[in-house]
Amino acid sequence: MSNATIANNLLFCLCYEVLKTNKTHPKLLYNRKENTYLIFCPACGFKTLPDFNKQAVIASWFTSNRFGDSHIKNCWITSYNKQTGSAVNLNETMVPLNNKKS
Ligand SMILES: [Zn+2]
Repeated sequence: MSNATIANNLLFCLCYEVLKTNKTHPKLLYNRKENTYLIFCPACGFKTLPDFNKQAVIASWFTSNRFGDSHIKNCWITSYNKQTGSAVNLNETMVPLNNKKS
């Protein structure tokens, strides 16, 4: 994988790769009351932990969503499942929570 490919995908949430969503830019939110920042994905709801340090939140997002790294991808899936109560895995049965039949 070329550096250019990685750079082109840096700003997107990994859900486009794991859940086959459209490439979605994350949103940076500021909580005025608690003076914290967090970044979340409007497509799948994946989010960082809130932190008062904006740069730390951005760094955390980039680390969690690095494209083309299978370890990062596994960590992403674990976090996503924890955050959303989904049961996404790496085989063909990957489904986001809102599509899950109960
Ligand atoms: Zn996402």
